[in-house]
Amino acid sequence: MKTHARVVVIGGGVVGCAILYHLARAGISDAVLLERDELTSGSTWHAAGNIPTYATSWLGMRAGNYAWQLYKDLGERVDSPITYRHTGAFWPAHTTERMELFGHIEGIARSAGFDLHHLSPAEMDAMHPFWTPGKTVLGGIMDPYEGDIDPSQLTQALAKGARDLGAKIKRFSPVTGIRQKPSGERVVSSVNGEVTAEIVVNAGGFYGAKIAAMAGLAVPVVTLEHQYLVTEPLAELEAHTGVFPLVRDPDIRFYLRRERNAFLLGSYAHAGRPAWADTGPPDNFAHQLFPDSVEDILEVLEDTIAHVPLLAEAGAQRFVNGPIPYAPDALPLVGPAAGARNFYHATGVQIGITHSAAIGKAITEWITEGETEWDLAAWDPRRFGDWATPDYAHARASEHYDLQYAVPYPHRNMQSGRPVQRTPLFDRLVESGAIMGQIGGWERAFWFNTAHAPDVNRLDYHEEPWHAPVRRECETVRDAVGLMDHGGFTKYTVTGPGAAEYLSHVFCGKMPAIGRIKLSYMLTPKGRIWSEATIARLAEHHFLLCGPTLTDQRDFDWLAAHLPETGVTLTKGCEHDGALLLMGPRSRDVLATLTDANLSAAAAPWLSVARIRVAGVALCAMRVSYVGELGWELHAASADLPVLYEAIMAAGKRYGICQFGSYALNAMRIEKGYHGWGADFGTEYTLYDAGLSGFADLEKGGFIGRDALLAQSDCPAEWEWVGLELLDHSPDPLPAEPIIQASEVIGYMTSGTRGFRTGKVLALGYIRRGTLGMGDECSLCVLGEESRARRVNPCQYDPRNLIQRS
Ligand SMILES: Cc1cc2nc3c(=O)[nH]c(=O)nc-3n(C[C@H](O)[C@H](O)[C@H](O)COP(=O)(O)OP(=O)(O)OC[C@H]3O[C@@H](n4cnc5c(N)ncnc54)[C@H](O)[C@@H]3O)c2cc1C
Repeated sequence: MKTHARVVVIGGGVVGCAILYHLARAGISDAVLLERDELTSGSTWHAAGNIPTYATSWLGMRAGNYAWQLYKDLGERVDSPITYRHTGAFWPAHTTERMELFGHIEGIARSAGFDLHHLSPAEMDAMHPFWTPGKTVLGGIMDPYEGDIDPSQLTQALAKGARDLGAKIKRFSPVTGIRQKPSGERVVSSVNGEVTAEIVVNAGGFYGAKIAAMAGLAVPVVTLEHQYLVTEPLAELEAHTGVFPLVRDPDIRFYLRRERNAFLLGSYAHAGRPAWADTGPPDNFAHQLFPDSVEDILEVLEDTIAHVPLLAEAGAQRFVNGPIPYAPDALPLVGPAAGARNFYHATGVQIGITHSAAIGKAITEWITEGETEWDLAAWDPRRFGDWATPDYAHARASEHYDLQYAVPYPHRNMQSGRPVQRTPLFDRLVESGAIMGQIGGWERAFWFNTAHAPDVNRLDYHEEPWHAPVRRECETVRDAVGLMDHGGFTKYTVTGPGAAEYLSHVFCGKMPAIGRIKLSYMLTPKGRIWSEATIARLAEHHFLLCGPTLTDQRDFDWLAAHLPETGVTLTKGCEHDGALLLMGPRSRDVLATLTDANLSAAAAPWLSVARIRVAGVALCAMRVSYVGELGWELHAASADLPVLYEAIMAAGKRYGICQFGSYALNAMRIEKGYHGWGADFGTEYTLYDAGLSGFADLEKGGFIGRDALLAQSDCPAEWEWVGLELLDHSPDPLPAEPIIQASEVIGYMTSGTRGFRTGKVLALGYIRRGTLGMGDECSLCVLGEESRARRVNPCQYDPRNLIQRS
């Protein structure tokens, strides 16, 4: 066996082989794949092999589309047989909510450039010789790209393609240990010897957590059961030689397609059942299945037969109840491992036949270029921290399994496995009516049920129980003052004589003066936006960075990777680990009753920072406001939050203070036209696309991404970041819905809200540069219906920042 390799991939399922293939195609043939048993012996061999493009995000659609494009002629290209059948798929809807969802999906597809389209019951009927809409089907959506593939053949073809380009595969080589050498290389031990590798990729499927643990890392992968049934062959299918689409019926919760002359019927109708929750997967489960679970299929059989009567005539040939890997949010865990250089995860992949191609592309780009073409933040394993314990992961993955086919309402508040991270104010907030939600594992008040809505979790695309209370929260913040416990604010401390120079190299803007604050952006070498932080300079060599909650580990790794050898200390967090947001025109009055500090606009102007005492608590007071009001972020030690909170609430009583939550915060930041990470900017945009070029200082000297930024400044940006006001009554616009003019898609939206302070329904988004002038009208597609909209300034609330400066 090879003893040295640039890359070692652990796991020879479809994901590992797709990675090896993509690496080899990118010229990295000095790569070895180690597989415990035979290739495909984990989850891959028994997968149903369906490859949908239907997804609820651009990333999901792109991944599905990239897969079938790659697979359709892979067999010929690498000279390895593959049975691939391009069938298309339709998804019937039995409820109006489902029809609305399909309208939304169609909109996402349009904005992403795919043709998923509406079908009438009659059109579906005509496409399928054995399916009937009956009386319940209202319509549906067509995924013309879906097909199915033999997963074992696919894996073998990927493996052959990689081998032909020089990559090596060692079967029957279980990895038993991973240790790091002082050089940073890792020694991967297997029963067949050791390989020293510059880079290691964990593609261990449902063994992903075990492999991570060998390297001293944690990744929240769990195993659930998933099952389909293959019927006995049917004469009618034998006689029917034509191709007909797969049917995926999310209301009845089944998928059904032809498998040779039989039907393959899969179901998500049963509860998500974790396997090996206490022990993790056993060492010897190659090519094995769980016992059949006939009842699970029986649950959907009657309703399925109502639409596919032929199914009633078929006996069961075999049940396939196999292990399916899941992450707590049912998305893959793909990208750099937290806190570990040159170690990548590609595990926890729930639909790996579909996603493996995109994962191969992504891991290869990470390795060869250090950044990816598509924004993969949603798949980045670092979205989970230590808080994603095995108990949490099992509970949440099971809840996702249960909801696999549920309508994915934007405000579904998942309840399982909570709480895992909370501030000392948690009980106090709940007692006062907070409806807590979870962001990055942190409990945060989403809204306060002051109207005593009986069903706080009622979901709808139109009116939800939080609308009226959030309106009141926003109005109170606008007219008086509001207080929010912002649990889990990402914070880093940077100190040392080289701190300013280092930060100036990692961020594109100038560093603030002592006592001042600046919002700044980190760019990738290609000049795309990696992330943002509010940088407060507390002293000459002392900076406090505050960033988005969900980027905590990802940005820390980025900052750590660029640290100089000496002169700078970077620490996650700071002594002031808690944060309260006190916002609104009376915030100064409230604070003034609790501090001796001079809070005047002259002494404590907008974008200043000071260490002061409030109600006897030492804290860092930052005059910034994500909601666009006069206000302070009060960064204090968690232990001091209860005292501080009570003091502020008591002092604020005479000014009409309210508590407010994340929903109000988000609505107000959209009215203010402030970008939200993960929604309005990310690694697919340049500062010029996003309207953020004013934050870069090209004159200050070198910084990461400067050369690319200079090149971008020479040619017009592809996109323009815009604000839209909806002119028709419509539900709240959802991200990725298309912006349309003269029947052409000219862009898509990224954030939308009812603006409770402005009385407008607002959206932020991107258009192709030059396609829409300020004030021009266009349409925004919301849940499949076009609504009239007008281009407006993205900042609809106090565009001159007079309130903040006051
Ligand atoms: C019933 C069922 C139907 C499904 N249908 C579909 C579908 O239609 N479409 C779809 O996209 N997905 C489907 N899936 C999901 C799909 O099977 C998985 O997402 C996919 O197979 C995961 O591939 P993988 O390579 O990550 O994992 P695996 O195939 O499990 O590969 C991981 C490999 O790592 C090896 N390994 C583990 N530990 C070690 C070690 N220590 N040393 C060396 N090697 C090790 C294992 O032996 C294994 O071969 C289905 C799953 C089930 C259960």
